[in-house]
Amino acid sequence: MKERRVTYRFEARRIVRGVPLETLLDVTAKVTVVVGSFIVLAAIVAVQSLEPMIMLAGLFFQWLFLRCIAEHIRLQKKIAGIDFAGRISGPRLETIWACGHCNSMLHSENHCDNCGARIKIDSDD
Ligand SMILES: [Zn+2]
Repeated sequence: MKERRVTYRFEARRIVRGVPLETLLDVTAKVTVVVGSFIVLAAIVAVQSLEPMIMLAGLFFQWLFLRCIAEHIRLQKKIAGIDFAGRISGPRLETIWACGHCNSMLHSENHCDNCGARIKIDSDD
C-alpha cells in the first residue's frame, strides 16, 4: 500500500475576480442605447412619423443615469481603497508631441501646423 505524505494546512488569500457592478452598469448602458436606437428606428418606420424620436431623449437619460451610478460606485471604491474596473471620468494626464518653437500640439511628424517649423527628429542630423 502506498504511503501518504502528511502535511499541515494554512490559510492563504487569493483574489477572486468577478464582473464588477460598475462594469455591468456600463455594459447595460451601452446595450440599452444600441438596442433602444434600433427599436426607435423600427418605430419610426412602422408609424411613418418622427414622434418616436422623443424616445431617444429617454434612452440618453437612461444611459446617463446608469453611467452616473457606475461612476459613483467607482468613486466610493476609490475612497475605500478597493480596486475598481474602468476609469473615473474627468481630465487625465496624457503624453503628446509638442513643437519646440511654439509649444503647440503637433499633428504631423515632420512639421508644425501652427508656426510652420520643420520638426527635427532625434535620428536626423
Ligand atoms: Zn510650432
